[in-house]
Amino acid sequence: MNFLLPLTGSFAQPAAENPTVAMIEAAYQHHGLDWRYINVEVAPDDLADAVRGARAMGWRGFNCSIPHKVAVIEHLDGLGKSAEIIGAVNTIVRDGDRLIGENTDGRGFVAALREVVDPAGKSVVLFGAGGAARAVAVEIALAGAARIAVVNRSAGRGQALVDLLNERTGTQAHYAPWEGKFAVPADTDIVIHATSIGLYPDVEAIPEIDIDSLKSNMVVADGIHNPPQTRLLRAAQGRGCKTVDGLAMLVQQGVIGVKYWTGLDVDPLVMRQTLLDLDL
Ligand code: NDP
Repeated sequence: MNFLLPLTGSFAQPAAENPTVAMIEAAYQHHGLDWRYINVEVAPDDLADAVRGARAMGWRGFNCSIPHKVAVIEHLDGLGKSAEIIGAVNTIVRDGDRLIGENTDGRGFVAALREVVDPAGKSVVLFGAGGAARAVAVEIALAGAARIAVVNRSAGRGQALVDLLNERTGTQAHYAPWEGKFAVPADTDIVIHATSIGLYPDVEAIPEIDIDSLKSNMVVADGIHNPPQTRLLRAAQGRGCKTVDGLAMLVQQGVIGVKYWTGLDVDPLVMRQTLLDLDL
């Protein structure tokens, strides 16, 4: 067998409709990189063999999506700092003979946010406590956020994230129940929506947030990338807020992944345009 190109890719299930493939292949082509990023459908029972195969074939790295983000850890040789705290991995990087697990979900978000505001020292309200919220919360805490209020429907999940943040990072976190319309405190700098509300096809859904409590000096970010302009972001723009969309988070994850694998800084605009052209 000949493997002429450095291989990277995604272990996903199911493999269909993976925008990451289009985005990363576009970056490879734009920068003249003779690399490939391929999507491989991997069933949970086959994960160990898939990782062994990637090792045997000398893959430079790969992404893991749900349901592999936690299960893959036992097949790796080490974890990056935030992946270890989050307890989930979405990017695997070869370092010599070792496979190291990283989590770029939150880091991509922070990179996208930094184009508008530096989270260091800021007061944050975060809606959600699932996988995406957990990754975003840990990264934003490691980036120096002063305070994080976790607002979540289920108190148990919300409190678990608060405990993790207080135990493992330097931020001050507290849980706030989500009952009815949530009024964002006036001293908030950054509002982050990280639940699945508003995701296609439920594009008319909007999280129960008191829109009148949003002030023009707040930055409002939404993790939903499909559609990029959610009802929440449109409402926030109507209140004069600066906004960050979920597409920026997805693109920046890709930029960070490609940097890990190839060492190169790729152009985020090429990747964003590729995603927009897909008309997700
Ligand atoms: P999870 O299933 O792990 O978590 C879902 C979260 O949404 C929980 O906090 C859940 O609350 C909350 N939620 C769901 N429905 C409702 C509702 N009707 N009312 C109130 N809260 C609700 O999902 P993920 O964290 O993995 O993903 C969340 C979103 O983030 C997805 O839409 C995904 O597309 C997006 N995402 C975007 C990425 C990007 O690059 N832009 C990357 C990764 C994810 P509870 O705990 O009470 O159930």
